[in-house]
Amino acid sequence: MVIIEDKLGLVRYNADQVSHIKLDAAACRACSHQVCITICPAGCYTLSDDSEVLLSYTGCLECGTCRVMCDHLEWHYPLGGCGVSYRFT
Ligand code: SF4
Ligand code: SF4
Repeated sequence: MVIIEDKLGLVRYNADQVSHIKLDAAACRACSHQVCITICPAGCYTLSDDSEVLLSYTGCLECGTCRVMCDHLEWHYPLGGCGVSYRFT
């Protein structure tokens, strides 16, 4: 059985200084589905206690799923040398 937390433990990150994903706070407040919270495989999106959508970009796997699913995101790859790197062991 594949345990996603085990797989995520093999991933290494070199966090960019600034987020490569930008949220539109007004759009998030008006969003009826907040699908980003459920579709991100790394759990980068969460809800705060006062129901604001929060993003932790440093754990992003750069899979692009949120980019495809949400029209309100600004999304680009991190600067060269930054972001995720995978180990296939
Ligand atoms: S799906 Fe997009 S607009 Fe909706 S809460 Fe998530 S980031 Fe915001
Ligand atoms: S690109 Fe993938 S891993 Fe990164 S925040 Fe979006 S859904 Fe999550």
